[in-house]
Amino acid sequence: MKYRSTRNQSPEVTLEDAVVKGLAPDNGLYMPLSFPILPSEFIKALPSLSLSEIATRVASALFGEDIKECDLRNITEETMNFPIPLVEVTSDILALELFHGPTLAFKDVGARFMARLLGYYNRGNERIVNVLVATSGDTGSAVANGFYNVKGVRVFVLYPKDKVSKIQEAQFTTLGNNITALEIDGNFDDCQRLVKTAFLDKELNEKLMLTSANSINIARFLPQMFYYFYAYAQAVKSGKDPDSIVFAVPSGNFGNITAGIIAKKMGLPIKRFIAANNSNDVFYNYIISGNYNPKKSVQTIANAMDVGDPSNFVRILDIYKDSHKDILTEIDASTYNDSQISETLLKTWQRFGYLLDPHGAVACRALEEKLKPGETGIFLETAHPAKFKETVEGIIKENIMIPERLAEFMKGEKINVELSADFSKLKEFLLSTTLDMRVNEVV
Ligand SMILES: *Cc1c(COP(=O)(O)O)cnc(C)c1O
Repeated sequence: MKYRSTRNQSPEVTLEDAVVKGLAPDNGLYMPLSFPILPSEFIKALPSLSLSEIATRVASALFGEDIKECDLRNITEETMNFPIPLVEVTSDILALELFHGPTLAFKDVGARFMARLLGYYNRGNERIVNVLVATSGDTGSAVANGFYNVKGVRVFVLYPKDKVSKIQEAQFTTLGNNITALEIDGNFDDCQRLVKTAFLDKELNEKLMLTSANSINIARFLPQMFYYFYAYAQAVKSGKDPDSIVFAVPSGNFGNITAGIIAKKMGLPIKRFIAANNSNDVFYNYIISGNYNPKKSVQTIANAMDVGDPSNFVRILDIYKDSHKDILTEIDASTYNDSQISETLLKTWQRFGYLLDPHGAVACRALEEKLKPGETGIFLETAHPAKFKETVEGIIKENIMIPERLAEFMKGEKINVELSADFSKLKEFLLSTTLDMRVNEVV
């Protein structure tokens, strides 16, 4: 499969090039040239297949021409080595728990796949790939942990000072080795802007091989479709109507929901999607008005969704060929402020004994308000509630347990580099690291 840019102003590339480059030279995002349609026998057989069988089949449809079957199978199986259960919250609202991986957030899936794929392409060569990643919290931890000690890869995590939770920060500032945490004096949009500017800077790109592990990278975002197939499989297996399934996705940069939309284009019979936003409502406004007006992001208790100009919006436009009308037939949207998010989190805990995290709460509420009779709603529970301990405890007024895996991170020593939100400072820092390339030889 070849990959093309959403701007159509640069050449088609191979999977390897798309992954290593991250962003296309014309500043567009890479997309597969076509969406392979999975056979209907496969869709019918889904309820009888395991997560790793499903992931391997979907991966092979997408990447099978580019990677040897046994290697692809290894990459996929290693990526998906944790459970992704579908849990009933009410009789027609189900939570897809994506937080059972190493950093307890759904981004583990894409980050682990991309790390393994880059490791695969780096076998037997000496090059060093520098991964730049902007994070509002969870991407940094998933990418840092996914890439920790991967040969030939160095990771720079850019995160906004004082805007990520203590637990999130500990997950990428305590690893060391090939992982460097850069604390930026600004907000998430500043971090994202710095990363994008770096990819376009001629001198930096001549001296360093740079790529992105944000969801603009196809190897991060496409594997996220595996679990839509698996969620559907579990729902049908438990007796839900196969044509009734609606996904509500807590959305920030819109990578997760875009992966789901592509799963639908590849033949998964998803009825429709609801993009659930916090107060950062540019997509919601686009849905109701047809106008896309990026805004400065505002801080909310669902901080991983505090994005004012979602990077994958262009992919959605690309899939639907810029037709607002066509988008409306498959995607709905909703927006909730912090007090609505808190209210849903509290009520769901009191009424159903199900503890949401603030992100999942946004999507759960969207289903409560928007699900039509006969529909089955699945919301993506994108992170473990304990990742937002202070917020969640403040809402339910009870202490929550921190899973062992999370507690481990808190024990490490924090090491980071503080930088202003000025691009020249980031550039200077990155160029200075070319001098100590040897750090990478140990990993
Ligand atoms: C990243 C993140 C999101 C948003 O996902 P996108 O793919 O950027 O839309 C939602 N919830 C959590 C917990 C996240 O970490």
